[in-house]
Amino acid sequence: MADAIKYLLDESRLPREWYNIVADLPRPPEPVLHPGTLQAIGPADLEPLFPMALIAQEVATERMIEIPEPVREVYRQWRPSPLYRARRLERALDTPAKIYYKYEGVSPAGSHKPNTAVAQAFYNKEAGVRRLTTETGAGQWGSALAFAGALFGLEVRVYMVRVSFEQKPYRNALMEAWGAQCVASPSEETNAGRQILAAHPNSPGSLGIAISEAVEVAAQHADTKYALGSVLNHVLLHQTVIGEEAIAQLEMAGDYPDIIVGCTGGGSNFAGIAFPFIGAGLRGGPKPRVIACEPSACPSLTRGRYAYDFGDTGHLTPLVKMHTLGSTFVPPGFHAGGLRYHGMAPLVSLLQELGLIESRAYTQSSCFEAGIEFARSEGVLPAPEANHAVRGAIEEALRCKSEGVSRTILFNLCGHGHFDMQAYIDFQAGKLEDRAYDEGELNAAFDSLPKVAAE
Ligand SMILES: *Cc1c(COP(=O)(O)O)cnc(C)c1O
Repeated sequence: MADAIKYLLDESRLPREWYNIVADLPRPPEPVLHPGTLQAIGPADLEPLFPMALIAQEVATERMIEIPEPVREVYRQWRPSPLYRARRLERALDTPAKIYYKYEGVSPAGSHKPNTAVAQAFYNKEAGVRRLTTETGAGQWGSALAFAGALFGLEVRVYMVRVSFEQKPYRNALMEAWGAQCVASPSEETNAGRQILAAHPNSPGSLGIAISEAVEVAAQHADTKYALGSVLNHVLLHQTVIGEEAIAQLEMAGDYPDIIVGCTGGGSNFAGIAFPFIGAGLRGGPKPRVIACEPSACPSLTRGRYAYDFGDTGHLTPLVKMHTLGSTFVPPGFHAGGLRYHGMAPLVSLLQELGLIESRAYTQSSCFEAGIEFARSEGVLPAPEANHAVRGAIEEALRCKSEGVSRTILFNLCGHGHFDMQAYIDFQAGKLEDRAYDEGELNAAFDSLPKVAAE
């Protein structure tokens, strides 16, 4: 029997609809609040930032939402993505568990992010938008949007967290190859950026600051809108093709997961693989355990408060109810840049409140160890973010071994690590530190949470 078993759906099985978990939840999501008045906002309030089609998806309640044909046409280049049975890893761990992984590194940008970037670029183009602004941390999201912008003829301006901009010139080069402009944030281009620079001329930047810059530019230009790579309902929606395909592929394998594992930064790849399975459970089907894995240096689900908070540092975005470390919280530097966000998607947060998912936090060195073990058995070198999911899956497989039971584990390998080799160099050289966040700073960030009467 082949060592790695690959389950491939043919192109005709590419999903026709995204899955909206809101339709199956026992209670509706909490309303979004205006940053000035702290009152619930309506769709029209979001129009300066997003095209109406995406706002409609943000508040949609129907279960299935059609994927436009031009989006499916682009998806077809790498979707359906492969599902693998990780037999060599199972053997290396000597576990009775069956381990499957869905591999999203096959997209042109190397991660799951194009699943939403392509959809967002399509709807913006349809609405007559000329230019998109966005932020990026590690550069995965900026690259994905640059790729999508190139396909749909949109200008893309990316505010990249300065420390990553300096450390990751290849990501920047990739964005520029696709025709996007990449700017180190904080920049002199925006009020938000200038304010930060006035106070902290050497600011390394943060996702919260870069979001403020991108939002400010979009709000001030009629031909420009803003695109976000995670957190929002419509972003999570677009990622559900991952789980929909995995259900069909596991059917080919004659299997169904007992445990689903994903890494969480803003929650989108996790939602993408997990929501279709959780939804099936809510509609009376089997209920797998679902585990979100996050970095212990930025632990929004395991340590955060479930509260209304801003999405950015400059407090330009609406408030959403989510697990948050506080919008002023700046996590210590670590290599999984895509996981350094203070908040968690409202839908993922709500699922945790409802007891439908569990969460765990891991140190970065334990995740790199897991990633190396995975690369040596399965060949693919995971992105540092994805290593958190690998770590979670291995932990569950070893638990099966110690309990002497076989369970089926499915995890999302959301991207490859080819642009993150410096992190691997540091790890192999023993130079990776597990830096804890400062408890005092976390408490100060909690104290700065907005006081919202609606809570
Ligand atoms: C952006 C990114 C993440 C974190 O974002 P989520 O919305 O939580 O998925 C994780 N992994 C990779 C590879 C990413 O590019």
